[in-house]
Amino acid sequence: MNIININDNKLYYVGGVVRDELLGIESLDVDVVYEGNAIEFAKSLSEAEILQINEPFGTVRVKLDGREVDIASTRDEVYERKGHLPTVTKIGVTLESDVKRRDFTINTLYKSVSTGEIVDLTGGREDLKNKTIRVLHDESFIDDPTRIIRALKFAVRFGFKLDKHTKKLQDDYLKNINYDMCYKRIKKELIETFNLNSQTAFETFIKDNIYKLVTEKKVTLPRVNIEKLINLYPVDNIWLVYAGVLGDLSRLPLTKTEQKILDDFSVTGKLKTDFEIYKAFEKAMPETILLYAILKDEKAAVKYLDKLRCIKLSINGKDLQEIGIAPSPEYQEIFDYVLKLKLKSPDMSKADEIKAARNYLVG
Ligand code: ATP
Repeated sequence: MNIININDNKLYYVGGVVRDELLGIESLDVDVVYEGNAIEFAKSLSEAEILQINEPFGTVRVKLDGREVDIASTRDEVYERKGHLPTVTKIGVTLESDVKRRDFTINTLYKSVSTGEIVDLTGGREDLKNKTIRVLHDESFIDDPTRIIRALKFAVRFGFKLDKHTKKLQDDYLKNINYDMCYKRIKKELIETFNLNSQTAFETFIKDNIYKLVTEKKVTLPRVNIEKLINLYPVDNIWLVYAGVLGDLSRLPLTKTEQKILDDFSVTGKLKTDFEIYKAFEKAMPETILLYAILKDEKAAVKYLDKLRCIKLSINGKDLQEIGIAPSPEYQEIFDYVLKLKLKSPDMSKADEIKAARNYLVG
């Protein structure tokens, strides 16, 4: 890894990028920390263009060799309000102090930018070798419960296991959740975890009671394999298909589209005929249909996705006008009448459809 070209012995790569390099995986974002005040440091660099400064957090975004890099100051933090963003109490502390605010030992490795030496203050290298996820202290999940979902994300992504004591701390927390937490951050971690599209992740999420962070209502594992379903019928919002299974997402800040996907699902009742299935799903988002498959009627949803959705009427209002029917609300009834026939006989041609429309009028 040779991403930054600055020779300063207080500058370190940290966290995910070092972890991923040791695992032989390419990391997308690069976190860099300066042991001291990163803002003053960045200002002193003639080769760096300062793009953005966040004074309270001591972070700075710079452009270096045409690349944007965030440099953080080493800092101390306290969780004044558990479950919410911590407060920075001191900027420019030692690495030994900075490391304490991090989540898991595997994310605490610092790698000197100038020498490449790795500084391991928590046994993170050993845990990486042993595929173990371990918190740094017993209050970790109480301070920040999003770490429970992060642990699951890393476990699934790398095939790691939670260390026994960490699992016990997680279980203890999940028995006594403080729901006053930042759900924007919970949502972000849920998105990253569920977007891995892993049935294993979801099963652990339910069986280990992690879902209780989101809802107090009991959730059981659906019979349908969601990973397979999504592989067959890809959707944009993978995470929402998994999260939607929990039923109650009222704590999460949802976008209008996300809320619509869930609302459309919940108002869709039992669908008996092909026509009912078609009408229920023709304007629905694919995520709504998958939720219906998982929680209500897999056969009906799959029938729509495999077969019915390919059937489209060829006639439109203009065609009806041409055969002498004046525009009126009756058009919808005519289209529905023809559609019912076409769902039974998908090979109907446009001429057949026009004939059917005429028949409807004759009664
Ligand atoms: P990813 O590969 O998913 O980006 P990452 O480890 O780089 O993983 P980030 O969310 O980018 O994760 O965070 C960067 C670093 O910041 C982490 O490696 C970790 O040291 C620290 N960190 C992130 N989130 C938390 C948290 N909730 N609590 C404590 N430390 C955290």
